[in-house]
Amino acid sequence: MPVYRDAGFELFDAETTAGAFKKESEHQREPDNYIYSRYRNPTVESTENEIIKLENCEWALLTQSGMSAIDTALSVFQHGKETKPWLFFTEIYGGTISFIETVLKARRGLDIHYFNAEKGDYNLGEFEKVLIKLKPELVYIESISNPMLIVSDVKEITIRAKKHGSKVILDNTFGTPWLYKPLEDNVDIVIHSATKYFSGHGNLTAGVICGNDENIMKSAIEYRKFVGHMLSPDDAYRLQTQIQTFELRMMRQCENASKLAEHLDNESVIGRVWFPGLKTHPTHDIAKKLFGGKGYGAMITFDFNGKDANEKRSRRDKFIKLVSEKIKLIPTLGDPHTILMPVEAVWGTKYPEPGMIRLSVGFEMYSELLETIKKALEAL
Ligand code: PLP
Repeated sequence: MPVYRDAGFELFDAETTAGAFKKESEHQREPDNYIYSRYRNPTVESTENEIIKLENCEWALLTQSGMSAIDTALSVFQHGKETKPWLFFTEIYGGTISFIETVLKARRGLDIHYFNAEKGDYNLGEFEKVLIKLKPELVYIESISNPMLIVSDVKEITIRAKKHGSKVILDNTFGTPWLYKPLEDNVDIVIHSATKYFSGHGNLTAGVICGNDENIMKSAIEYRKFVGHMLSPDDAYRLQTQIQTFELRMMRQCENASKLAEHLDNESVIGRVWFPGLKTHPTHDIAKKLFGGKGYGAMITFDFNGKDANEKRSRRDKFIKLVSEKIKLIPTLGDPHTILMPVEAVWGTKYPEPGMIRLSVGFEMYSELLETIKKALEAL
């Protein structure tokens, strides 16, 4: 696929120009005539076609980042003073919460509500009561949350939301279409931070929204164009190259994570391991049902044993130092190599255990990864 770096495309004569601009109001994803790269670009479109195959859906729209994908998906449902309440599940990406609080609530004045997870899971009976009372226009969820890795029962949530007339938007960044294709279960919009597993190499920032409803697509195309959220052709090209190995990478990352979670669970210096593949995880059964045993994602959260918070923190700090040659502290996920984040340093006291570490498991050789971790744990 060539990289079309053109800002504007040649339109030859007045008649073609008039026709192209007239057709713009139809918001086609694949226009007959390209006008301007912020509107549509052939390289971007070609990468979108690859994502359509992965998600098994009608359309996909690429944006500059996961956050601009989130803004695009949500803004489709904003209609000035007519906008109805929106309902967000609480266990979602911190950046999304910040966007809700600082942009949607403080600047745009939207009527936002949250639905809380109780004991590491969502109570669907309570959820239905909220739907009946609030009648939200949309419900926003994530397939696997961060850092507690709560798996949402997307099928059941969607059935209930639809019964009460709400649209469902799902951020499937952690789940990925390798584990689960939410559009097959009637979710209205699927979002990805393509910066993560789609790109898979920690070297570009991109986002995508996917769906089947043509009206939602047209509205999203219009919004992406006027706000300027379009992905650059160079990044689209690189994403297209890297996405070819998506399934291979994801398969290996999920396998490595499952094996490592089992191992950590049996290490005496480790306190608790949060991984949806372990029977001890509060949403293990949901994960098993939703992902059909294909895997449980490639994220693991764990903490250390210790007589008090200080000992747990000191073990965390020592562990980070001991593995640092091979496992770097990098604030992203989905990279080729395993990377880590200290949970408390990012989320503060929101999560109870002071020594918690979140691992994004990579697709390196499992034996090498295990050796690095075993050596560090022995030295604690
Ligand atoms: N959604 C989830 C679940 C994320 O983890 C992130 C970023 O970490 C985003 C969205 C935002 O994506 P981006 O950083 O590509 O804007």
